[in-house]
Amino acid sequence: MRALPKLLSKTRIMRGYKCVKNIYLNIHHPNLEAEITPDQQALFDQGNAVGEEARKFFSGGVLVDNKPWDFFGSLKKTRELLASKTPIIYEAAFEHQGCYARADIIKYSLDTQRWKIYEVKSSTKVKEEHLDDVGLQAWIIAKSGLPIEEINLVHLNPACRFPNLENLFEINDVTAQIRERYPSILPKVSQLFSTIKTDQVPVVNIGAHCLNPHECGFKEHCWKEKGVPAFSVLNLPKLNDKKWEYFNQGIISVDDARLTDLTPLQQRVVDVFKSGERFLDSKSIKAAIAHWKFPLVFLDFETMSPAIPRYIGTGPYMHVAFQFSVHVMTSKESEVTHHEFFHEFPTDPRPTLIPALLKACEGEGSIVSYYGRFETDRILEMAKSFSEYAEQLEALTQRIVDPLPVIRDFIYDKEFKGSFSLKAVVPALLGEDESYEGMKVANGGDAQRAYEEIINSKTTSERKNELLKASLEYCKKDTWVMVELVKWLFENSK
Ligand code: SF4
Repeated sequence: MRALPKLLSKTRIMRGYKCVKNIYLNIHHPNLEAEITPDQQALFDQGNAVGEEARKFFSGGVLVDNKPWDFFGSLKKTRELLASKTPIIYEAAFEHQGCYARADIIKYSLDTQRWKIYEVKSSTKVKEEHLDDVGLQAWIIAKSGLPIEEINLVHLNPACRFPNLENLFEINDVTAQIRERYPSILPKVSQLFSTIKTDQVPVVNIGAHCLNPHECGFKEHCWKEKGVPAFSVLNLPKLNDKKWEYFNQGIISVDDARLTDLTPLQQRVVDVFKSGERFLDSKSIKAAIAHWKFPLVFLDFETMSPAIPRYIGTGPYMHVAFQFSVHVMTSKESEVTHHEFFHEFPTDPRPTLIPALLKACEGEGSIVSYYGRFETDRILEMAKSFSEYAEQLEALTQRIVDPLPVIRDFIYDKEFKGSFSLKAVVPALLGEDESYEGMKVANGGDAQRAYEEIINSKTTSERKNELLKASLEYCKKDTWVMVELVKWLFENSK
């Protein structure tokens, strides 16, 4: 058991709000926690970028620029700024009874001689967990002695559209809701402090809280402790919260006889698990793909979805395609041809991507896209923003066909492990050679990060070329495996 730190940050205490075992393990057994993934790091970075952007709307403040881990230095600097009557402070630090919090923005009101707190969240709406988070923060600040007039949650406005960023943020006065929570905070925090002082790891069952709103870093440890196998009732598709009802009844293995009331798809997954035999309905596959028209055009986009919009007509988190790969297959026997596009510059990719896309997809054949809803939505969004291409772009969406529902409805292999994602389906049907293992850019998150680095003027040309090559390989792979998958469908639907 480790010695407790003198101060516990709000972020750490919030872990305990979510799960008391999480904060305990984080303090006493941090080695059991999974490392932060690049996707998680990107989320943190995005949150910081949104926080910095929000400061522009409260200009003229002074930043407590001590590092996040410098608690005592931050407290000292905040005291100095308060003593010198600084009217707006960014990242001010406060403490009360061992609890520590930093406020994104605080602003002094001359009228009331009290302070307004603005806590910035990078979401597009107020969420329940934000109220817990801001409640704890405001409680620490209030108890530390700062007179508070108002508590506000600031989040991104989904209606904002670039280039007008004046309404980028929405400010919600949550003072009344937060003050209602004050009485429950001290008992909750005291309970947490007494738990983390013991030498006993608290007993907490696993559940939906391990996955929502984010996957817990101790999941591997806790789930192993509970004996959850690699494939269990928790992996059954579309079982939602019911899976936890089964789990809590001790139904963990998918061959448990008590597993009833399953949908046909779930039942198929169970049957394949028991028999080990692949499910394949060739006749139905044949009927489902009979209307697909040659030349088949296999299409995949890579997109970015910045929190702070950058391009005309886009809002927070709207996807913007910066890359595509297209393979064209004229007939079942023909060689396939390849077309690709990558916008290497920080400007809006769409004005150059759209003509290249229309050219690559010309003709009347079906456009094959795995989870085609995504490509359809991106194309329709572009049609809306670039009216001169609207008709041609909308016509593309009429040609889109999707192998995903065909596979979901008529094929199941135990190696899918309950998932119908391309990355699960491809190695199971086409072999491990077609897996994404070892690729430098191996998923959508990697592709977005590579793109950001490529368009960054500080990136060396060597690094840029390396990333560009890896990004092109990844997107090409996505359409290439679709070609192979569709060939497989043809072969298995005779
Ligand atoms: S995995 Fe679940 S039970 Fe374990 S610490 Fe995390 S949230 Fe708690």
